[in-house]
Amino acid sequence: MIHVDADACCLCGLCTGVCPPDALDLTLTSLEVLPHCTSCGLCVPYCPVGALSGGRLQERRAPIRLVR
Ligand code: SF4
Ligand code: SF4
Repeated sequence: MIHVDADACCLCGLCTGVCPPDALDLTLTSLEVLPHCTSCGLCVPYCPVGALSGGRLQERRAPIRLVR
């Protein structure tokens, strides 16, 4: 299971689009990791603010940096 830093998460929803089993539930006020998360780690580097941690691929993929 991955961890969401609720204070850092800006609820942009980018991570929800890359989750293979659709295990990220985004609402207007929170992002919840659902029990069927496989801890694959694919979502972690897609978070622009670094609010996701854990998962198997975290150390093998560089974070994506947004161009301002
Ligand atoms: S670790 Fe994998 S399964 Fe879990 S929320 Fe992220 S992308 Fe989805
Ligand atoms: S990508 Fe990061 S900031 Fe955006 S909803 Fe997911 S955890 Fe929150």
